[in-house]
Amino acid sequence: MEKLTIDDIELKGRNILVRVDFNVPLSETGEVADDKRIVASLPTIRKILQDGGKAILISHLGRPKGKKVPEMSLAPAAKRLESLLGRPIRFVNDCLGPDVEKAVSELKPGECLLLENLRYYKEETDNDPEFAKKLANLGEAFINDAFGTAHRAHASTEGVTKYIKQSAAGYLMQKELKYLGMALADPQRPFVAILGGAKISGKIDVISNLMDKVDAILIGGGMAFTFFRAMGKEIGKSLLESDKIDLAREILSKAAEKKVSFMLPRDVVVAEEAKEDAATHVVGIEAIPPDLQGLDIGPKTVEAFSRELAKAKTVVWNGPMGVFEFDKFAAGTIKVAEELARITEKGATTIVGGGDSASAVARAGLKDKLSHISTGGGASLEFLEGKTLPGVAALTDK
Ligand code: AMP
Repeated sequence: MEKLTIDDIELKGRNILVRVDFNVPLSETGEVADDKRIVASLPTIRKILQDGGKAILISHLGRPKGKKVPEMSLAPAAKRLESLLGRPIRFVNDCLGPDVEKAVSELKPGECLLLENLRYYKEETDNDPEFAKKLANLGEAFINDAFGTAHRAHASTEGVTKYIKQSAAGYLMQKELKYLGMALADPQRPFVAILGGAKISGKIDVISNLMDKVDAILIGGGMAFTFFRAMGKEIGKSLLESDKIDLAREILSKAAEKKVSFMLPRDVVVAEEAKEDAATHVVGIEAIPPDLQGLDIGPKTVEAFSRELAKAKTVVWNGPMGVFEFDKFAAGTIKVAEELARITEKGATTIVGGGDSASAVARAGLKDKLSHISTGGGASLEFLEGKTLPGVAALTDK
């Protein structure tokens, strides 16, 4: 890595400002409903505490848009962190001001402090220099471990680095960049991308960037139907982006030109609409009835995709194969996750780009069976698009 990492900086006895991504879902009773992002930050926090550093953790949660919204407090995250670390965590109900300064000055080596939601101040998302400077003043060095927010140039991800001497990547940030970076820069081949989700429009830059790097692209989800329409097929009531048909045609011809195997579904699960008690049928893609819509990939597609995946040495996956929120349309997505687990066991590197595909992997009980599941849906998508993430670019060069 060309940027400083946590292992390059002196932690002992120093105030270490750490941008973590504790943007976790909360239950109706105000408890952390899914702690995977907190768990993912533990190696960095533990390292600082074990080395006798003083960890000052900062994060956002939700979109309070510059207001103090109590339902978006980080207090529940402090509680969960406390039980995960098995030691007390001091929580201050602000991220700046005299209470924060006092708590920081009282912090002892090996202790940890979590500050309140950064986005209670709109200066955070505005990347306000004064706000960034005040945050920077809390630490002697800065560690960014919030991969999920690295695609945003905010005060706590980008601005802060201008006012502190050393800014380094934490272990989670390093791991995310290692897997995603390796896939783009030096993948073991065959390298296969699986793309799904609702629309082509959200994935067009990823498709374009990956087209130059992969050996095969497997397309599932709602976006497949705009490609089918571009090929002149009847798609019934399936999701269509009519303003993207020309784009779909261009992608198809670019794939042919570059000799990238571009695999679309062979069969689909159709129904009138996506609901739990829907009557479903499997039809070939030449036979989608005019009054029905395709809501998942069918078994022949799963078979064809699995054959392609069985040969792969590196796989990147972003987007579900169907409306996986309903069991009736989740089989395609779950089967893809299972195939990825199988090939991982045989030595392939499998990377899931966060968001819906990561939830599907968790739902299938396979989250420990794949090589890497990104904690940042938006950030990993931008990385795969080939964009520079401002939160990473701003770290100190080695
Ligand atoms: P995205 O955010 O673009 O990755 O899209 C994720 C969403 O795509 C999920 O909520 C799925 O329910 C939805 N989706 C997947 N397949 C289809 C489909 N065939 N028709 C409509 N929506 C779909």
